[in-house]
Amino acid sequence: MAHWIVWLSVFTLGTIIGSFLTVCIHRIPNGQSIVAPRSACPACETQINWYDNVPLISFLWLKGQCRACQGSIAPRYPVIELINGLGYLLVVWRFGFIWEAVVYAGLFSVFWVVTWIDWDHKIIPDVITLPGIVIGVLSGSLVLPTGWLNSLLGIVVGGGILLVLAWMSPYVFGKEGMGGGDIKFLAMVGAFLGWQQALITLMIASVFGSVIGIGLVVFKVMQKDQYIPFGPYLALGAFIAMIWGPDIWQWYFPGLV
Ligand SMILES: [Zn+2]
Repeated sequence: MAHWIVWLSVFTLGTIIGSFLTVCIHRIPNGQSIVAPRSACPACETQINWYDNVPLISFLWLKGQCRACQGSIAPRYPVIELINGLGYLLVVWRFGFIWEAVVYAGLFSVFWVVTWIDWDHKIIPDVITLPGIVIGVLSGSLVLPTGWLNSLLGIVVGGGILLVLAWMSPYVFGKEGMGGGDIKFLAMVGAFLGWQQALITLMIASVFGSVIGIGLVVFKVMQKDQYIPFGPYLALGAFIAMIWGPDIWQWYFPGLV
């Protein structure tokens, strides 16, 4: 076991990058730069000093309020930072201190950003998924155990299944089901993790999507014809496939590939 300072460093790095993710979640859908300008309070637009921008700690220190206008800071900010820190811990715990873990941690952050952007705006931006597919093939071929062939198959299987579903759903379900963003997202997952993991992602996303979707309608939180974005479920499925995918595959299809 590594020293606790090492684990604390991994967690801290996760929360610092998580703090950057809140900027990405806020700006990417608006087509704004994620580098400049510095973060500002959404209410009073005062720029945030570095000492008020320490992940998790500043939120507690400032008691969830802007220093300039006392406007409340949305609790999603520390939540996004915290989960990203815990995600990095989980990745390193699962895979150890190897280069693969860096890619998986980055991928975790991408899943996390996609979850929020799709939740907020019901889109999965191309500026994430299209470069993601290219980086997925490169890391799948060079860093991860995926391999180039499985990486390419992952794009075809992941993107292909959702493409067929999207094409069929107006006929079968009488409404638009899958969006183009979902298709490219699953293609990206396949590029990184391979075709088996793309299938597992879709399986898990569908199960969670239907259970939670039906639950929300039954308990009247939502109307029957309301549209739930599928991206957060896909991201959850991809996360589980990334961490436990090979085990799940062996469990369901022992001996098959
Ligand atoms: Zn303010």
